[in-house]
Amino acid sequence: MPPSVVDRDSARQGFSWASAGSELDGLPGGAGLNIAHEAVDRHANGTGAGRIALRWLGRDGTRRDFSYAELRDLSNRFANALRALGVAPGDRVVSLLGRVPELHIAALGTWKLGAVFCPLFSAFGPEPVKTRMEKSGARVLVTTATLYQRKVAASRAALPALEHVILLGDAEDTSAGTPVLNWPQLLAAASPAFTIPPTDPETPALIHFTSGTTGMPKGALHVHAAVLAHHVTGRVALDLRAGDIFWCTADPGWVTGISYGVIAPLSNGVTCLLDEADFDARRWYQLLAAERVTVWYTAPTAIRMLMKAGPELAREYDLTALRFLASVGEPLNPEAVVWSQEVYGRCFHDNWWQTETGGIMIANLAAMEVRPGSMGRPLPGIEAAIVRRTADGGAEELTAPDTVGELALRPSWPSMFRAYWGEPERYAKCFAGGYYLTGDLARRDVDGYYWFVGRADDVIKTMGHLIGPFEVESILLEHPAVAEAAVIGKPDPVAGELVKAFVSLKGDRLPDDLLRRELLGFARTRLGAVVAPKEITFLPSIPRTRSGKIMRRLLKARELGLPEGDTSTLEEPAH
Ligand code: AMP
Repeated sequence: MPPSVVDRDSARQGFSWASAGSELDGLPGGAGLNIAHEAVDRHANGTGAGRIALRWLGRDGTRRDFSYAELRDLSNRFANALRALGVAPGDRVVSLLGRVPELHIAALGTWKLGAVFCPLFSAFGPEPVKTRMEKSGARVLVTTATLYQRKVAASRAALPALEHVILLGDAEDTSAGTPVLNWPQLLAAASPAFTIPPTDPETPALIHFTSGTTGMPKGALHVHAAVLAHHVTGRVALDLRAGDIFWCTADPGWVTGISYGVIAPLSNGVTCLLDEADFDARRWYQLLAAERVTVWYTAPTAIRMLMKAGPELAREYDLTALRFLASVGEPLNPEAVVWSQEVYGRCFHDNWWQTETGGIMIANLAAMEVRPGSMGRPLPGIEAAIVRRTADGGAEELTAPDTVGELALRPSWPSMFRAYWGEPERYAKCFAGGYYLTGDLARRDVDGYYWFVGRADDVIKTMGHLIGPFEVESILLEHPAVAEAAVIGKPDPVAGELVKAFVSLKGDRLPDDLLRRELLGFARTRLGAVVAPKEITFLPSIPRTRSGKIMRRLLKARELGLPEGDTSTLEEPAH
């Protein structure tokens, strides 16, 4: 079967976002554009009604199928339930859920009402959950009794905007005097019929939290128009088409799990798989084989773990249904590309994007020559460049091939973020010279392929998750023994980077192993396992610039035994 795009260059030449709009339906009667309508209702109201939209594979072996018509009706019920609670368009609905179908239903119902969906990663500890919920000003939280007790209940007093907590399952949990609602009852009481009110394409739809070097996480705001980018990039970069069995392994608590775990595949009419269980090489191969997965979208950390599990394991399974393999989220080592070709008979196609871009920007398309180690080339409708920030606050394009600079994009595509929620200055800082500056360093080769070089800032990518050092440092500083803390990403052969902390102690506290373990445990309880440091090194003091900024780069260079670079702004002599 030929790929949906057979020639990248001609696809680019003939492309405009305005004309691509005809791939979507729009709301009936010209009432605008709504993600949930494009993703589900237009299929459910037509020939796709009985097609499986979502197949959920429970941790315990349960399997549940949802047709497009069922997803339409369930999300209608949720939209009605929200409306009955007094939730209004623009209000924020937060989910704190694992990989369960209720997350899809909650997202779709929220969009139908015109409210803003904000998914949170269920492995976050109570502090990251609190910070994000506070910032979002959410009125509604959808979660489970266990997650609520562990991660939210203690912060409830600090979340005055939070009016309704909806718990999955039958648990009647009213501990700490906090009233909670029950998902099954709410949905059972709500009508399965709902007419989506007129939705302007610029109506806010989603907030995804992401991290920077400084300050607390920022909420990237996306609008309903984004569905056009999800739809087109799903077709072009992931080669999705109706009839595909598609498995996006990303957790829907992060942007990939929503853009490509929910919106793009559904709008393209495919069957999405959702596996509740955590990574396990054998389970993954069993799933790929048994479900006859045709398109598989995963991340380098998982691919490296599969490589560790060895080619023999892969060869025990029939993976011949696989047609297209793609990877995102961190640099994909060239060996992984070569290995996948050898072992699966198909290679992983790396692609690049980030929370702010909302959808895939740069990719190795099915019809392109894959250059192992390269992220690929810009998609139709995407103008990318390598730039240098200039002293006057502008940006200058670096046109010579293989010059390293910051990866920049000309904002023009529909899934571009529209704001950092409530932080206009931080948003404004992302733009210069008519470009959106991505914070990534890259180079472009003579044939136009982009190669990732590193981050321009100090954020950490661990197992595909973006972690802000400031958020981790802030928690360490709350421990009574800690005077100063600095956090870096330490290269790791499987996770990409590990979160590593350097800590200086107050007064006469001794830097011993007992305290190290105490601090690791303290951070883990507060932040959750993904965000908390895995290693702590004690230092007499943390190196800072004369203006007081932590020199994370210097700590990283020392950690790796690399040249320390320019230390002329260092406040204290190097030690
Ligand atoms: P997030 O916003 O959490 O999706 O993280 C986006 C960041 O992940 C990018 O800015 C890159 O630093 C990194 N990233 C995403 N895709 C790739 C890729 N294909 N190769 C290298 N880094 C990537």
